[in-house]
Amino acid sequence: MQALCAANTTAGQLRSPICCILGHVDTGKTKLLDKIRHTDVQGGEAGGITQQIGATFFPIASIQEQTRKLRRAEEKVKYEIPGLLIIDTPGHESFTNLRSRGSSLCNMAILVVDLMHGIEAQTEESMRLLAMRHTPFVIALNKIDRIYGWKPSPWAPFSETYAKQTDEVKTLFRAKYQEVVTSFAEKGYNVCIHTENKDTNTFISMVPTSAITGEGIPDLLMYLIAMTQRTLRDDISLINELTATVLEVKVIQGLGTTVDVVLSNGILREGDTIVVCGLNGPITTQIRALLTPQPCRELRVKSQYTQHREILAAMGVKISAQGLENAVAGSPLHVAYEPEEVEFLQELVSQDLESAMSNFERA
Ligand code: GDP
Repeated sequence: MQALCAANTTAGQLRSPICCILGHVDTGKTKLLDKIRHTDVQGGEAGGITQQIGATFFPIASIQEQTRKLRRAEEKVKYEIPGLLIIDTPGHESFTNLRSRGSSLCNMAILVVDLMHGIEAQTEESMRLLAMRHTPFVIALNKIDRIYGWKPSPWAPFSETYAKQTDEVKTLFRAKYQEVVTSFAEKGYNVCIHTENKDTNTFISMVPTSAITGEGIPDLLMYLIAMTQRTLRDDISLINELTATVLEVKVIQGLGTTVDVVLSNGILREGDTIVVCGLNGPITTQIRALLTPQPCRELRVKSQYTQHREILAAMGVKISAQGLENAVAGSPLHVAYEPEEVEFLQELVSQDLESAMSNFERA
């Protein structure tokens, strides 16, 4: 787990970008992540957890492996980020709540659209949320394997598998693709297949994928790497200032009450004094254990955790500490580096709670 080690930090270093996956129900969000992780959350591997926000860290080595087939592009793209943290937000409330003091938690997003259904109600809602937060996104045009007569080439880059299809299949694909392009244009969005997108400022790229066969997934991952490294460098530079958000509060056998946290920037260390929002006022406690799931494993799925002395952003982290029972999901987590900072941070989280409550009452 070298990427997690703070001793490796240098000035100008990039952190792992945070990418959210969203879209209409049943478009294949969970299945896509399962395919990239080689897990089966969609099939019920971890019953019920798809109702919670998930976080999976993909180390760069795993992404390199999955984009191996895109040899030519790989030569052009230098992998500079330590990995990618993908956040899976099952409901839109969770995405809306996922804010760290006003700024969006996600650096970019994957909007999943079913090729057969095009834009659906929650696709539009997702687009509105992304526009509101100015979050750049790529469209995964999923379920290409459902085109009648499609011949799958597992894990192939899109151009490779498309070239192998018959003319009839290509025509069917193009027709469906064109329908989607037109419906996006009607909503005021210029979209275009990623292999033909020469102007990413004007056109949103659309990567055709299949979460069943893995086709197009190399393209999707490569796109995320290239895009974040090229256009979001300022957003993903590793800084010393800590930004962390509480996702869930959970009792884990053997660990007691824990909080799952997205560490978006900075470094967390074992023994750090943390201040978080609690239902009955600010909670001030010390990090007893700093844990992560295995790479490419879901934070929300109970698994074997790895314990760390310190962790670099971005990462989904489980924190075990005393007194976390009433911590409030969705609220920021702060670290008091000096004892004098505690009071100030307690005041800060009290204000957060007050504004969260008044937003809640207004809603
Ligand atoms: P979510 O609600 O967006 O997370 O969608 P799921 O991942 O649960 O998928 C919904 C259904 O679509 C499941 O039955 C999946 O097996 C199926 N599915 C997802 N992706 C694909 C795909 O690329 N091709 C095909 N044929 N089916 C898919």
